[in-house]
Amino acid sequence: MGKNLLDKVWAAHTVRELPSGQTQLFIGLHLIHEVTSPQAFQMMREQGLKGLFPERTIATVDHIIPTDTRQRPFADGQAEAMMSAIERNCREFGIRLFDRDSGDQGIVHVIGPELGLTQPAMTIACGDSHTSTHGAFGAVAFGIGTSQVRDVLATQCLAIQKPRVRRINVEGKLQPGVYAKDVILQIIRTLGVKGGVGCAYEYAGEVLRRMSMEERMTICNMSIEGGARCGYVAPDTTTFDYLRGRRFAPTAETYDEAVRWWQGMASDADAAYDDEVLIDGGAIAPVVTWGINPGQAISVEERIPSPESFAADERETADDAYTYMGLQPGSPIAGTRIDVAFIGSCTNGRLSDLREAAKVAKLGKVKPHVKALVVPGSQSVARAAEKEGLDDIFRSAGFEWRLPGCSMCLAMNPDKLSGRQVCASSSNRNFKGRQGSPSGRTLLMSPAMVAAAAIEGVVADVRPLLRAEGA
Ligand code: SF4
Repeated sequence: MGKNLLDKVWAAHTVRELPSGQTQLFIGLHLIHEVTSPQAFQMMREQGLKGLFPERTIATVDHIIPTDTRQRPFADGQAEAMMSAIERNCREFGIRLFDRDSGDQGIVHVIGPELGLTQPAMTIACGDSHTSTHGAFGAVAFGIGTSQVRDVLATQCLAIQKPRVRRINVEGKLQPGVYAKDVILQIIRTLGVKGGVGCAYEYAGEVLRRMSMEERMTICNMSIEGGARCGYVAPDTTTFDYLRGRRFAPTAETYDEAVRWWQGMASDADAAYDDEVLIDGGAIAPVVTWGINPGQAISVEERIPSPESFAADERETADDAYTYMGLQPGSPIAGTRIDVAFIGSCTNGRLSDLREAAKVAKLGKVKPHVKALVVPGSQSVARAAEKEGLDDIFRSAGFEWRLPGCSMCLAMNPDKLSGRQVCASSSNRNFKGRQGSPSGRTLLMSPAMVAAAAIEGVVADVRPLLRAEGA
C-alpha cells in the first residue's frame, strides 16, 4: 500500500519521536506578522535565545495596518507600537520584513504563495490559524501559538502530534456562479465545525483537479474552520506552473529537479487514508452562513433551519445563533438586508476573487444604505488589479478601493462594523463580534455573492445576475 503526502512530508521532516508521543518536526518555512510575534521575541530575549535559522523566517504586516492611509505614526497607538515592535525585532534577529515600502507587503497567507516562498512538501508554521492556506501547494502547514512561535524561532522545530488523514473527494463539475468558497462552506456544513478534529484534510477529486491555485488556497484556508489541523492538495502541474519563475521558487536551472522531488512527495495512487468522504460538486449551490460559526450555513435557495432539525448536542449553539443573528427559523436567507459588504481577506482577497466580484459589480451600483469595501490581499494583488482596471470598476459601482491588509476580517484596524450591522463578507469567520462590533453580524459567502449583496442591498443569488448579463 502506498503513502499519502502527509505521511511522506512528516517522515522527511521528523527529527525524532518524543516520549510524549509527539513528533519533533523540522519547520522549513516560518511566517510571522505583527500581532502574534512580539511576545515570542520578548521570550527569546528573556531566555537569551538567538534565532537558529533566521533566513527561514519571513515577516509581514497585515492585521493592524489601516487600509485608508499609509501615514505613520498610525492613529491607533497600540497598532503603531506593534508595527514598531516588528520592525525592531526583525532588525535585531536578522529577519526579512516585507513592509509597505517593500512593495510586497500583504496578508501573510497571500504573500507567501505569490512570492514563491510556499512550496510543495514543505512544513510551514505561522502564528495564525489560517496557515492551512499554504496546504494548497502540498505543504503541511500549521497555525501555532505564541510560545510555539518562540520555539520555531529558537529551534526551527515544533513538538506536534501527527494528525490522521481524511481524504475529501469533491467530484463532478461546479455550476456557473459556484466558487471555491461555496465548496469549502459546503464541506464544513456537511462534516461540521468539529468534524476534522485530529485530522489533516486531503482535498482531491475532479473539482479540485480543475481548480486554480488561488481557488485551492480558498479551500485549504478554511480547513481550520472545519476543525482540521491542516488541509492540503497534492501538488500537480497546476502547482508547478504557478510557482515557475516566482521570486523565491527554485531557479530555472534547478526547477525540473525540484518538480521531480515534489511529484515524488504527492500521495501515491494506492495511498491509505484513515477515512474518505465524497462530496457531489455538481449539487452545490452558492452557500451563505446564517449563524455564528461557518458550519451554520445553507444554500442561498434555502430557509433558516428550524430548531427541530438540529441534533440535541447542536441545539444550544443553534439557539444562541437565532438570538444573536436575529434571524427567524423558516425565513429565507435570500432577501436578508445587509449594511456592509466586505471583499478581501486571506480566504478571498486574491486577484481571481476580485475579478469574479468585479464581473458582478459591473452590473449595478452599491445600494445607498450599504458601505462596500474592497481590500486587496497584497500590494502585488492591488497592482495587478489596478493594471486590469478592476479598481475603476469597483469605484464606479460605489465600492471603496483600499490598501492591502486583513481589514474587516478581524477588525484589528479601523475597519469595523458598528452596532448590530450585518456584513456580507468574503472572509472566513462569522464568530460573534468577529468584525469589530461586539454585536455585529457576519454572513460568509463568496466574493461574487458579496458583490451581488452590495448591489441588491440584500443577500441575493448571484447566478441569475450572471445569467441575465451573460457575465
Ligand atoms: S485575513 Fe483574517 S484570517 Fe486571514 S490572516 Fe488576516 S485576520 Fe487572519
